[in-house]
Amino acid sequence: MLNTLWKLVEDESDVEAKALADMVKANPELPDWSAGVQPLLDRLLAANDIKRELVCRVLSQMPFGAVSLSHKTIVLAESLVDFCRGRTPQMAFVLAHEVSHMHRGHGRERFGATDVAGMLTLNPIMAFGMKKLLDTGRSRENEFEADRDALAFCHRAGYAPHAGAEFLERLASGELARDTIKQYQSAHPPLSERLAELRARADKLNPPQTS
Ligand SMILES: [Zn+2]
Repeated sequence: MLNTLWKLVEDESDVEAKALADMVKANPELPDWSAGVQPLLDRLLAANDIKRELVCRVLSQMPFGAVSLSHKTIVLAESLVDFCRGRTPQMAFVLAHEVSHMHRGHGRERFGATDVAGMLTLNPIMAFGMKKLLDTGRSRENEFEADRDALAFCHRAGYAPHAGAEFLERLASGELARDTIKQYQSAHPPLSERLAELRARADKLNPPQTS
């Protein structure tokens, strides 16, 4: 296990594929859900001229949240996708936030795909250490930067600019059990701060033609 965790990464795609296989073993994928979300991701990439082939995978029973691996995969919890059901622009915002982390290589120096997989699937003590790494690997400024990018990415793709703020408002309003979003919140700056910034920026944008 330690071997896999700490091995130096030479080929990111190889390591990511192995990490993903481990994650899927512990949290089986919902292929129909993945296929349902992929077009939103493709639309974001095309509209923003991001020439990377990113894929999203929706996994069952994983803690509420989204994780971008180091090479090309965005992993989404079933509970998060379900929370955005019928609210396409909010799902797009979540994806766009992760696209920004990947595109800018946020946190890549501090942890790779294997570490993230370890956080989600290995024993709790190891998972705790990994969570610490994850929290410090992505700085507070990285998170605000990802929110700002996400707003711009969504706007260019024709998604309503206020969707990100609406998503965070729903999280803050207690629509989900506090326990459910605990881990998500611990990895991000306070919702109120993210909300204030997103709302102010969205207010400056003109509503797009389509949503
Ligand atoms: Zn983030």
